[in-house]
Amino acid sequence: MIEFTGVSKVYPNGTKALNDVNLKIEEGEFVAIIGLSGAGKSTLLRLINQLIPATSGKISFDGINVTTAGGKELRNVRRQIGMIFQGFNIVKRASVLTNVLSGRVAYHPTWKTILGLFPEEDKQIAYRALQRVDILEKVHSRASDLSGGQQQRVAIARALAQEPRLMLADEPVASLDPITTIQVMDYLKKINAEDGITTIANLHHVDLALEYASRVVGVKEGHIVYDVQIKDIEKQT
Ligand code: ADP
Ligand code: ADP
Repeated sequence: MIEFTGVSKVYPNGTKALNDVNLKIEEGEFVAIIGLSGAGKSTLLRLINQLIPATSGKISFDGINVTTAGGKELRNVRRQIGMIFQGFNIVKRASVLTNVLSGRVAYHPTWKTILGLFPEEDKQIAYRALQRVDILEKVHSRASDLSGGQQQRVAIARALAQEPRLMLADEPVASLDPITTIQVMDYLKKINAEDGITTIANLHHVDLALEYASRVVGVKEGHIVYDVQIKDIEKQT
């Protein structure tokens, strides 16, 4: 589904964030990216949906070279990729429903979505997404009235409303307490296992990676330093 070939990223200020990365990810995998702060995990994730451009190398998504794709082709790739962040990135002043509906913007002309004109079908999709993370009862709440864990579930619902094939999670639990962390990770796992959404999550903690992922990729100073399938570890123990 995803292939990095000789990918490097140098930021405009000269920081070398990734150096000659090669990585292949198959449909259905749950990949945890592990590494210290500053290792390049977030950069790696953001290159997949081209939130940032690569400096060199090739990244393909379903055979489409995203580093050269533009316009409609890139929009079509991005629509298939949901993303969640450490800081949730939801609009705090808006309702939960409005936040989740924003996952539908790519399906409609911009002017309609700016005016908040979403068809009834989209609302049904939003309700189903909220139901998936057990937070439908908050649909009319203001996002700012929810706890951190609930806000992250709304962010997951927004990503689900996109009907994505890939979920990118950039430190999804880094600002949550241990109990809420497990809840959010459980939802990510359920969505991967039951809905078949390929998942790539940047995680600080190796133990979480071992618990939830099917594969763990270690990143250090812009390089991949290990890449293991969990089932291969289990065979040896
Ligand atoms: P991680 O997600 O593993 O913490 P990042 O990918 O965020 O690592 O960062 C990798 C390196 O690139 C770090 O040295 C970081 O400071 C740097 N970096 C990240 N974003 C930018 C940016 N927009 N401009 C310059 N340097 C950046
Ligand atoms: P997160 O923890 O959510 O990944 P970060 O604190 O790493 O967020 O980065 C926040 C923003 O600042 C990102 O857009 C990132 O690209 C940018 N950034 C990170 N490190 C640097 C840096 N050294 N110089 C400039 N921008 C950076």
